[in-house]
Amino acid sequence: MENREYNADLIIKNCSILTPDFNVIDDQSVVIKNNNIIDIGSADLLSDIYQSRETLNGNGKLVMPGLIDAHTHTCQQLLRGRIADEYPMIWTRIMVPFESNLQEKDVYISSQLSCLEMIKSGTTAFIDAGGRHMHKVAESVLESGLRGVITCSTMDSGRDIPDTMKSSTEENIRKNRQLYNDFHGTGDGRLDVWFSLRSIITCSPDLIKKVFETAKECSTRVQSHMNEYPNEISYCLENFKMRPYEYLESIGVLDENFLGAHSILLSENEMDIIKTYNSKIVHCPISNSGKGIPKTPSLMQKGIGVGFGTDGAGHSGLSLFDQMKVFKSLMRAFWGVPIFDPVVMPSKNILEMATAGGAKAMLREHQLGTLEVGKKADMILINIDQPHIYPTHNLLNTLIESVNSNDVTDCIVDGKIVMKNREVLTLDEEKIKYESKLAMKELSIRANI
Ligand SMILES: [Zn+2]
Repeated sequence: MENREYNADLIIKNCSILTPDFNVIDDQSVVIKNNNIIDIGSADLLSDIYQSRETLNGNGKLVMPGLIDAHTHTCQQLLRGRIADEYPMIWTRIMVPFESNLQEKDVYISSQLSCLEMIKSGTTAFIDAGGRHMHKVAESVLESGLRGVITCSTMDSGRDIPDTMKSSTEENIRKNRQLYNDFHGTGDGRLDVWFSLRSIITCSPDLIKKVFETAKECSTRVQSHMNEYPNEISYCLENFKMRPYEYLESIGVLDENFLGAHSILLSENEMDIIKTYNSKIVHCPISNSGKGIPKTPSLMQKGIGVGFGTDGAGHSGLSLFDQMKVFKSLMRAFWGVPIFDPVVMPSKNILEMATAGGAKAMLREHQLGTLEVGKKADMILINIDQPHIYPTHNLLNTLIESVNSNDVTDCIVDGKIVMKNREVLTLDEEKIKYESKLAMKELSIRANI
């Protein structure tokens, strides 16, 4: 057997799989070679065809696409537990001192801890809305094996922003470009760099136009926090006599390459604009619950691509399973109850948002978001042989109602196993926990928060 020929790198044998149309099929195998899924089918049949270097036993496991966190802040991991139940203004009292005191080493350990938590929660890809020292986040993404999109925090104005956190238009563009040049497409294409606006209210019209212009030049995308707070809407109405999405439309920058995080406070016209330009949006259910309930049923009816985000550990944990549960209840209570529609947000749609919806937000739906031959091998294994999951009449419902991050046993990104049996293979969990505890303590003293 010394000279055995391998025609696959990894096979997950005898598992159940979640199909692209959200059915569950048992007794399957998934075959992976060179970052991609090359076959899916009956375990018996495929075992005769493939000789693989590595095998995972999928007995009692569901294999599903990895979850995609389409809006997070890896730089805010050391804010965990600090914000809830605080009175306003959280931004000026906590966020600003926290963020302006972040040093490179804090960002590095913060992003290491984020990546660790994401992998252990079944998240295989994420979009970071941007912070400081983002080259340290890039290092963490590359080391962790995760797939990610990162951006710089970009601001040049705003009443509540200290000068130390603002920079000129030229400096902002230089920073964005530098990050792009250094890291876009690295890690075998796992890491992308986009451009960003922190929000419309903290960027001058000149900066907004330059960001879109330069992103286009670089053939990359732009994201921004959008329609999250009432004061953003009044700022736009006061200054431009238009709402935020109407303003972006009026300056001719909207297209399918724009991602608007949150997008809670939308008018009918703004929803039509998003649809017309095929822009993408992301909801962050737990973070949003204190600010407004998104119009997701209408957005879906219009065929607008919606993904899920956690908004980082400052606002919630990084578990998208938690976000999905909260979202289902919010949608039923807010949109379902008043019109007696118990199926206002079916489990299938919620799972789709966390997988294919996230892939659309990343503009990678041709590569990610479903288990299909030819797509990237980004997937997770869930131990379904447990009393809180099995037996069930409908595994899709149970995935939303009962499955937690802790049930994710293995995690594969770009064809590589990054977590096996709950052990993360790419990062040193004990070291990261120890160092982040020290960093949090030091930072809270330095920032006086
Ligand atoms: Zn955010």
